[in-house]
Amino acid sequence: MEQTLLKMAEEAKKNLEEAKSLEEVNEIRVRYLGKKGELTRILRGMGDLSPEQRPRVGQVANEVRRILEAEITVRTAQIKEKIKQARLIEEKIDVTLPGTKFAIGHLHPLTRVRRQIENIFLGLGFEIAEGPEVELDYYNFEALNIPKDHPARDMQDTFFISGEILLRTHTSPVQVRTMERMVPRIPVKIIAPGKVYRRDDDATHSPMFHQVEGLVIDTRITFGDLKGVLQTFAAEMFGPSTRTRFRPSFFPFTEPSAEVDISCVMCGGRGCRVCSYSGWLEILGCGSVHPRVLEMSGYNSEEVTGFAFGMGIERIALLKYGIDDLRLFFDNDLRFLEQF
Ligand SMILES: [Zn+2]
Repeated sequence: MEQTLLKMAEEAKKNLEEAKSLEEVNEIRVRYLGKKGELTRILRGMGDLSPEQRPRVGQVANEVRRILEAEITVRTAQIKEKIKQARLIEEKIDVTLPGTKFAIGHLHPLTRVRRQIENIFLGLGFEIAEGPEVELDYYNFEALNIPKDHPARDMQDTFFISGEILLRTHTSPVQVRTMERMVPRIPVKIIAPGKVYRRDDDATHSPMFHQVEGLVIDTRITFGDLKGVLQTFAAEMFGPSTRTRFRPSFFPFTEPSAEVDISCVMCGGRGCRVCSYSGWLEILGCGSVHPRVLEMSGYNSEEVTGFAFGMGIERIALLKYGIDDLRLFFDNDLRFLEQF
């Protein structure tokens, strides 16, 4: 039996030396040392041996197993090294070649436009203010001179969370929150960019969109100041030749109120499809702060005056980039986004 074991060991060694791949080495391991392997098969015959012979044969069997395991380890390492060397020669790494570039993204077009708007107003001495998107009815409507029974509420299809809590329909509540925080200090000079929500969904409306609110309060602020600030903004945003036009309008929280148009960015005012051949494009609403709004927030409307404006960031971006469907901004289609 000892002879059989030694013969098996010799044979296994020889096979190992001839093995060329890791798979072959593994096959040899299974063939000789596996549960159903040669060694196990031979040891099964130990029952036929005399008690004196058994320890001796057991010892030899253990020795053979140890040697084979060691040989397998060595052979495995040799083959691995060979594979590595072969790969090094084959690949010929040229460390002087430029590396693989990581694809880094860029800002969303709406973020870019928002930051551009912010920068223009920061340059005019405004500060940036923020307010909650989940808002109280009081700040969204009531304190802006829109009481519960006011028809102006119908203009803003509102998501209510409960009777008094809603998703803000405009950034105007930030006006009120800012005045409450600042009163009686002047000047107040803020813009408030952020998300707003209305129950609208079509090519030019999204249930979530972005606005920028502006508010200035100081002594002797006039409608002329408002016109100057917005004309400067339009020229910075759409180019120095951009003209503005103020049309009378109505907002409950400003008096007088106006809609502002800019000369068409596509045709320069001559008239085209984009401006419906009028030469003008509407970009925002504005007005002098209503005395009642000032009073409700604690300012004395006899001493201070102010103006406010609000614009949709999507609207500005649509005009700036000549896009005709607002939903493209939220589809997250890279074919669209990578154009910016
Ligand atoms: Zn036009």
